Amino acid sequence: VPVTRFFADHAWLGGDTTSSAVLIEVEEDRITAVHTDTVRPADARHLRGVTLPGLANGHSHAFHRALRGRTHRSGGTFWTWREDMYAVAGALSPDAYHDLARATYAEMALAGITCVGEFHYLHHAPGGRPYADPNAMAEALTTAAHDAGIRITLLDTCYLTGGLGQELRGPQLRFGDADAARWADRVSRLRGSEHARIGAALHSVRAVPADQIKTVTAWAEEHASPLHFHLSEQRAENDACVAAHGRRPSELLDEHGALGERSTAVHATHLTGGDIRLLGRSRTTVCMCPTTERDLADGIGPARALADAGAPLSLGSDSNAVVDLFEEARGTELHERLASERRGHWSAAALLDAATGSGHASLGWPQAGRLAPGALADFVTVGLDSVRLAGTQPGTQLESLVFAATAADVRQVVVGGRQVVLDGRHTLVDDVPDALARAVTEALP
Ligand SMILES: [Zn+2]
Repeated sequence: VPVTRFFADHAWLGGDTTSSAVLIEVEEDRITAVHTDTVRPADARHLRGVTLPGLANGHSHAFHRALRGRTHRSGGTFWTWREDMYAVAGALSPDAYHDLARATYAEMALAGITCVGEFHYLHHAPGGRPYADPNAMAEALTTAAHDAGIRITLLDTCYLTGGLGQELRGPQLRFGDADAARWADRVSRLRGSEHARIGAALHSVRAVPADQIKTVTAWAEEHASPLHFHLSEQRAENDACVAAHGRRPSELLDEHGALGERSTAVHATHLTGGDIRLLGRSRTTVCMCPTTERDLADGIGPARALADAGAPLSLGSDSNAVVDLFEEARGTELHERLASERRGHWSAAALLDAATGSGHASLGWPQAGRLAPGALADFVTVGLDSVRLAGTQPGTQLESLVFAATAADVRQVVVGGRQVVLDGRHTLVDDVPDALARAVTEALP
């Protein structure tokens, strides 16, 4: 088996700082050796800057990329934003969905994202009729990730009601399987691959009746798959859940077996101390999406308290109005500062772990997200030669990356040993801005 060697000027191998002159040896899709303080061999590919494990985007809705700008024209609330989102959801065909996801995932690759958790609920044709292939929309996404050169965990989402006790209506009809058993039948027909994992999601307690939750959690259990759900993003969700069930969303999910080490709660914004204890004790990962949470005026979730209680942290771009995990990482810390009037809740290394190792674990890829022998050869290099990062000192590289880097500073991206981004250019999608422009135009109603 041929060995490809990469020489990183600096690399983060875990811990609070970077190592220098790091030689990474790769066979097929795996890292086989990592040596520090080496001399650069002539045949090694030179990674100039700081190399990190590939970034995991814990929560994405690819089609929301078409909303960028459109949902920013006016004010309103989460609930008026949702109506704008439905307008795009109502119009997408499988081909348009593929093209939009392919371009969006190519944008993610350029941002250093090597694995995406796609929270997918746009299952059926307009009106709710299944396509001839009932998984045509899901397969559009896994194909799109393959075409863009990144890994995907397709979190196929059970979405049955328009609100607690409300029928699906209008564009929502596309989201619905008749019940959770029918959802499970459909999802069981999906097959993973080297680059794609199949996982489960409950949209939220708004969208899955209490008596249907267990079918979804049982499916995830049986397939040892990740299980994701939106949790308490809005106060109205908590109020409606308490009114209908006499329990808060986290209590209801706990009662039906949805919390645990393979589970991820997305947002977790409006929580009580009891909710925080439930999530922490069960080791449920919490995926924060700060650029979306501030965009939608959700509020600031108690990320630090959740971590202190035992909940691992991951990060997501969610609505894809911004695709930049450095911004999500610093957003998590900086929002906490605004809420607490104190600095320094997370180390830069802890935030990078959320974007790499912890993020991959929550998507069912525990073999990715670290630079070590045996791990998948997924890594990204951030250049230090931009105006943002020029002058970065060796002892503070991780801090510079978390607090000043942007997606535009990513120069090299390797996924499974294959160079997907080379010197800032995508190697599989010729012109990513053009692909985005075309796909967004095609997607809009
Ligand atoms: Zn979401």
